[in-house]
Amino acid sequence: MRLGLDFDETVTLDPELFGQLISLFTARGHEVIIVTIRQVSNNLNADVLAFAEEHQVEAIFTGGKQKAPFCDNLGKHVDVWMDDYPAAIPSVNKLAGMAFSCVKMKDLNIEPDDEEER
Ligand SMILES: [Mg+2]
Repeated sequence: MRLGLDFDETVTLDPELFGQLISLFTARGHEVIIVTIRQVSNNLNADVLAFAEEHQVEAIFTGGKQKAPFCDNLGKHVDVWMDDYPAAIPSVNKLAGMAFSCVKMKDLNIEPDDEEER
């Protein structure tokens, strides 16, 4: 199994916990990769790179692109995701399909996404 782990507002909420989680996954033969939508050239990535180095995991920077198709194109299909912002994961086709289903099911409650907006 390959676990795709988000960094900002996921790992950063408790880096020690996620470090332990990485150890558990890798000890059982699974692979963990960090997948962030940050730009690869961002010179503020020292925190991501240090965490990846410390825990011996790969860090993938999608540069704002949807995570699942980006990883698939690298030949690194992710089986399970842990991410505070799941909307950044599926391809646009799947997102559009989900949106269409919501309209079809009249599941159209519009609520703010962020706590700051409430
Ligand atoms: Mg995040």
